[in-house]
This record gives sequence, C-alpha cells and structure tokens, in this order.
Amino acid sequence: MSTKGPSEVPAEAARAEAGDGMTLGAADAPQREAVSGPRINLFGLDRSALRAAFAEMGEAAYRADQVMLWIYRRGVDDFAAMSNIGKALRERLATHFVIRPPQLVTEQVSTDGTRKWVLRLEQAEGKPETAIETVYIPETNRGTLCISSQAGCAMDCSFCSTAQQGFSRNMSTAEIVAQVWFAAKTLGGDFQNERVISNVVFMGMGEPLANYANVLAALRILLDDFGFGLSKRRVTVSTSGLVPYIDRLTADVDSALAISLHAPNDALRDQLVPINRKYPIAELMDACRRYLAGKDRKTHIVFEYVMLAGINDQPEHARELAKLIGSMAAKVNLIPFNPFPQTRYKRSAPEVIERFSDILRAKGVLTTTRRTRGDDIDAACGQLVGKVQSRQKQRLSGIPVKLQ
Ligand code: SAH
Repeated sequence: MSTKGPSEVPAEAARAEAGDGMTLGAADAPQREAVSGPRINLFGLDRSALRAAFAEMGEAAYRADQVMLWIYRRGVDDFAAMSNIGKALRERLATHFVIRPPQLVTEQVSTDGTRKWVLRLEQAEGKPETAIETVYIPETNRGTLCISSQAGCAMDCSFCSTAQQGFSRNMSTAEIVAQVWFAAKTLGGDFQNERVISNVVFMGMGEPLANYANVLAALRILLDDFGFGLSKRRVTVSTSGLVPYIDRLTADVDSALAISLHAPNDALRDQLVPINRKYPIAELMDACRRYLAGKDRKTHIVFEYVMLAGINDQPEHARELAKLIGSMAAKVNLIPFNPFPQTRYKRSAPEVIERFSDILRAKGVLTTTRRTRGDDIDAACGQLVGKVQSRQKQRLSGIPVKLQ
C-alpha cells in the first residue's frame, strides 16, 4: 500500500481544503450534526455510502477507498495509524466517525478448535442489553465464520434453540460486519495474505432476509475488494425461505444461497418451519430457480436438511426430496440435529442418516452430511442463544411479524 500523504498529492489537498471551506459555509448543518451527534461507526458503511459521506465532507472518493483498505485489509481501527492520509484529515475523520468493534462478553474454545464468542451489541438508552453469538470453525483448507444477523429470531422453527428466545431486534450493518473484523483480529491472522477466515455464512442467530437492508450492505462490504474481498462463492446467505427477499437478493448482489428446507412436503414443513405457511415449498423452489437462472453453471444452491429422528428422516422423505430437487443445480446438506434443553426432538441415528443420504445419491442428488462441530461449547447449528435479556416473545406463530 502506498504511504503517500496529501502533501504529495497537491490537487487532492487543494480539493480537500475547498471542501473544508464549503462545510463551514452553506452546508455546515450536516457537519455540525456529525460532530455533536454520535459518531458514525464505519463498519456500517459500504463503499458507496462511505464515498457519499466523504463527498459531503468535500473529500475525494479515493480517500474513502483508502480508509476502507486500512480497516478491512490491514485491521486498523485507529485513524491515527492511517499513514497515507494527512494528519488534518485524520483528525477530521475522528470527529465524524469511529471504528468500533463489538465488546467481548465470553470466548469458548471447543476441543475440536471451534470458537464461540458472545458479543455485546450497542445498547440504546433505556433498552435492554443484548448479546449475540459468532462461531469460528477451522478446517484443513478453510476457516468458516458463522455470523448472526438478528438478536434472537422470529421464525419460530420448532427444532432451533434461537427460536425459543423469540426476537429481540435486528442487528445494524455495523454490528453484522464487525463480527468478521473482530474474529479476524482475535484470531490474529494477517488481514492481507494468510486469511484465517475464508468463508462467511449467515447461519448464526436470526433470519438474514428478515433484516434485508442491513444484511445487503454487510454483504457488499464482505464482497468488496476494498472491504474483506471475499469470493462470492464463499459468502453464503442461509434463509428459512422469505421468497420476496430471495428475489431481491438475486437482483441486488451475487452471493451463495442456502435454503433451510428440512422437509420435502408442505404438511411437514408447515410444522418445522412456520414461514412455510406463508411461502410454501412450490413458491420457494420457483424463487430458487429464478436465483439460479442468472448464475453461471458452477453455482449451486445448498438445501439444508436437519435430521430429526422419526420426523423427516424416513426413506419416503428422501425419495420425495429427490423428486422435489429434480435436476436443479443443488446440493443437499444433511445436518444431524443438535439437541438443546427442552427440545422434543432427537438426532437421527448415523445409519438412518446414511440410508437417507444413499437414497438421495442413488437418485443423482449431490449429498453431504455436516460434521457437527463445537457441540461441547453449544456452538453447533441451532444451539446459539446469545444472552438476550428481557426477551420479547415475538414469533411467527404469535403476533404477526412485520418484515422490512
Ligand atoms: N435463519 C436462517 C439462518 C440461521 S439457522 C436459516 O433458517 O437458514 C442456520 C442453520 O442451522 C439452518 O439450516 C437451521 O435450520 C439449522 N439449525 C437450526 N437448529 C438446528 C439444530 N438444533 N440442529 C441442527 N441444525 C439446526
């Protein structure tokens, strides 16, 4: 990275000064607001938003790009360390903005190397303290970070422990993105070269598509070359099936998609994933086909299927599932159910899972079985509960949930 300061770029320096003059004059209102109000957390601004904020300050777009590189490629959270930006601008930035990671509540490390962090979210005045969970899963050739998008969840899937706590609130873009920055920093990797985090999956707490705008901006930062620069195949949005938002995602950004299917027919899926009553399987599969229509031939959808003993794990379910998927570019990921207190479900036996998988494979469906990781620290799929206090029991089966 170049270490040129503004003194070596006279034209830009001149423009920056003109910008200062402007903000002190006619357009001083936004600046006064920014200085006296709370400073904006930069983890919440994607490149176009940051460029717009810089333009408002009379600063060139490339300055915004430089700041992003410092944050996401160098792991810097202090303006004073941004050595290719002049001192005057650095100080100005510090009056408008802050680069604030979440606060760590607890860290647990599993015997298999999986790590779970409980992170405290920003607390608005008079609101209860809220925490979410982020999980890091190291594997031989990759490191996957499983991030949360909401504190709690309103989807009320009957086999998920997050559902039990109900919905607390949406996470901001900054809160979503900062999980990745925090994890990369804590794991001590080199932000530029040896990446400790190669994959990010929205499979932590919450339904990402029920917090669409914030998740979209977060995706842009994860995928942007000036942000984390992750490959589009390595950033996966997992959804319980909010059909209109699958279409919006398809139109707005290029990322990988996973669908929490869990049942091959509506009667069963209505019970396991209540959002199915609003968007039944046929509509969900149509949205999947629309997603695939615009992608290259390498793109696959992953259908997640939690294996619940005696509920959805029988041979006829496998045959029905194979029929449903047909020739779609898809993979099925069988997830052995992870139990949690007070659940009525049990994990399917290994031989039942194998039989299910064999039937799918024999019918030409690509099938993998997820190895359960981190279950000794309650970090496995569906075991995340955060520490949400004063829970509001907002669930799909109760009060209607207003989607963004
Ligand atoms: N709301 C999103 C993302 C969070 S859940 C979604 O539904 O996809 C991430 C994955 O974990 C989903 O496939 C979910 O169905 C699965 N899961 C939830 N509870 C589980 C449990 N107890 N055992 C195994 N997998 C579970």
